[in-house]
Amino acid sequence: MIQLKGINKHFGKLHVLKDVSLSVAAGEKVVVIGPSGSGKSTLIRCVNLLEKPTSGSVTVNGIDITAPNAPVTKIRESVAMVFQQFNLYPHKTVLENVTLAPILIKGVAKAEAEESGLVFLERVGLRDKAAAYPAQLSGGQQQRVAIARALNMKPQIMLFDEPTSALDPEMIQEVLDVMISLAQEGITMIVVTHEMGFARQVADRVVFMDGGQILEEGSPEHFFTNPTHERTKLFLSRIL
Ligand code: ADP
Ligand code: MG
Repeated sequence: MIQLKGINKHFGKLHVLKDVSLSVAAGEKVVVIGPSGSGKSTLIRCVNLLEKPTSGSVTVNGIDITAPNAPVTKIRESVAMVFQQFNLYPHKTVLENVTLAPILIKGVAKAEAEESGLVFLERVGLRDKAAAYPAQLSGGQQQRVAIARALNMKPQIMLFDEPTSALDPEMIQEVLDVMISLAQEGITMIVVTHEMGFARQVADRVVFMDGGQILEEGSPEHFFTNPTHERTKLFLSRIL
């Protein structure tokens, strides 16, 4: 479903991704962990071209999205992303937030986008908040709206970039619960998170990044019982 091959990313002189390769199969759930600044966000942003690699190729669903004439809009339709800072539109209602992208980007009729939007809001437990504004919601609720918004694009791939890191502790689980239920449905997911309970429960594979490289990957089991690299051990000892 996703193939990153020999990805390098430079920001000016900063070499942020160093020859990173990663393949993700359809339906697979990959959790990416690693210290701050190790390149996790940059890596997953390459999957929907929020960042363009300096070199290397990204193939999504058989399409080389790094090719000069790549259908970027089409890629964005099939790859949805949920951010740490929910990024909801403050002056739009919850339902408007959830319907905007399908209407504008995919050309879905308003009534249809609203109908499916309400289904996804129901899904995340927030149908009764459809007419509310983001500021009237808690952080956990806002993040669940952001997930409903992503789902309303009917994506094949969901990218999550530390979706619970900005939340108060008591709101983390409600968001993780939504993600866990999504994971059970067969959607392809790449999740950057430090929530090891989530990784243990959901991940088919955990990828540890450090210094712009993938240092180690394996099953959650491997990481919890038998990590190989000193840096992985050190990192895990700090977060667990
Ligand atoms: P992580 O998500 O693992 O914390 P990031 O991918 O956000 O790491 O960042 C990796 C490195 O790239 C960091 O040193 C960060 O400061 C730098 N970086 C990220 N985005 C940009 C940008 N747009 N411009 C310049 N430097 C950036
Ligand atoms: Mg990040």
